[in-house]
Amino acid sequence: MNINMFIDGKWVDALSGDRRNVFNPATGEVIATSADGSEVDAKLAIKAARKAFDSGNWSRLSADERADYLYKIAERLEEKAAEIARLETANNGKVIRATTYVDIPVSIQCFRYYADLIKGMKEESYTRADSSDTIIIREPIGVCGLIVPWNFPLMLAVWQIAPALAAGNTIVLKPSEITPVSVFKLFEIIEEVGLPAGVANLVLGPGSKVGNELAESLDVDKVAFTGGTKTGQSIMRAAAGNMKKITLELGGKSPLIVFDDVDFETAVDNAMFGIFHNAGQVCSAASRLLVQETIYDKFVERLAERASKIVVGNGKSENMEMGPITSEPHMNDILKIIESGIEEGAKLVCGGKRLTENGLDRGYFIAPTIFADVNANMRIVKEEIFGPVLVVQKFTNEEDAIEKANDTIYGLAGAVFTEDMDRAKRVIRKLRAGITWINSYHLAYVEGPWGGYKQSGIGRALGSVGLEHFMETKQINIHQ
Ligand code: NAD
Repeated sequence: MNINMFIDGKWVDALSGDRRNVFNPATGEVIATSADGSEVDAKLAIKAARKAFDSGNWSRLSADERADYLYKIAERLEEKAAEIARLETANNGKVIRATTYVDIPVSIQCFRYYADLIKGMKEESYTRADSSDTIIIREPIGVCGLIVPWNFPLMLAVWQIAPALAAGNTIVLKPSEITPVSVFKLFEIIEEVGLPAGVANLVLGPGSKVGNELAESLDVDKVAFTGGTKTGQSIMRAAAGNMKKITLELGGKSPLIVFDDVDFETAVDNAMFGIFHNAGQVCSAASRLLVQETIYDKFVERLAERASKIVVGNGKSENMEMGPITSEPHMNDILKIIESGIEEGAKLVCGGKRLTENGLDRGYFIAPTIFADVNANMRIVKEEIFGPVLVVQKFTNEEDAIEKANDTIYGLAGAVFTEDMDRAKRVIRKLRAGITWINSYHLAYVEGPWGGYKQSGIGRALGSVGLEHFMETKQINIHQ
């Protein structure tokens, strides 16, 4: 497969002609080559997006007209769902069950959700006693740079593309250079449904070049970034030049709290899903498990038993439960931090190594890993690992659980498991996190604003707030 950039309605290679290989992380095989662009290519895409925005061919369409395009994109995605799910698994490594039942359907639903939302959006108006009126309208911001990561390549791109387009903006999307395949398929659909040239542009290449250009350019009005907290800081600095609007969806180190009155097996199931879904490469992963001391030993023992039975391998098989790490460098980073946990004296309960048997050596597999008896100063407890590595801490009572749960620079997600609903609600309200669950984990809904407190981000994706972040608000005061 040859993947090119889509700029101003045309498929183009990088101006330099540079290309890069795209790998299947389960086999190490090259599955595609992609254009490898740089600042100059990003500049061309920004120019096209600016021209398209200023022409009004998109921004001044009615909400119904824009919504119709989004419905058509959703329809074509649905027709191609099986093919795109297969490609997403081949490029990212995640298991086919996840791409088939989560990544692609949620992407389709997201286009429809924002199409419905923009159609239903009403102006606010107020009339005063002196018969002056105020009307409040929403307008698109302009050119939006959308920078997204590799862990949910299509879905996280759509979480930004759908509201940005619905609101009437023009966009330049930069996917991760590691996982361009599924968004390339989406842009084929965008071409097919006939969005006006320059409304949606795809630029490929490294973050330090293409992404940074989007963040710095004075011609980009807003950047929506999903990725690591350190990169988010660099985007904020780069975006300051023209006071760009920014939204940042960043990392996490999210706690899952288990009280001793809980339905034991349900809590174990959720703790497993919380950390090992997508091989732990989920921003909201429940990577810190806090278990009440009365059931701690039994819980750790049961988790270890379950984790060592997870079927790990090439995600394309229907029965596979966990796939590889998406890139070799990231696998090596995870192995290093596991090593640090061992050196710092944490108790390795299971996993802790690369898996190489039965042909897995060609890919980038890590065994589901659990550490117990950890302390708050260890790197494995403090840092986002973004892999299948769980640390289990002990707590005594409610106050202790809350204090430990909030003892992090992050504030993305968190959960409480208990049969006592009053306690659950008390504890969840004291968690400093944006996405929370009581007796469940990882369930994401298009209506639910997604984002974090503290260093986990600024603003929210999804929900009506996800659309508002792509709009300016104007008051019109009328005196007759
Ligand atoms: P990353 O920050 O390395 O890269 C994300 C994107 O930014 C990529 O497209 C990359 O090319 C680009 N980029 C890199 N350096 C850049 C720069 N200097 N300027 C502009 N763009 C740049 O993150 P990643 O490794 O791709 O993804 C993992 C991280 O993403 C984790 O920290 C995870 O928690 C976070 N994440 C957050 C959410 C959320 O919704 N909060 C969702 C998924 C992932």
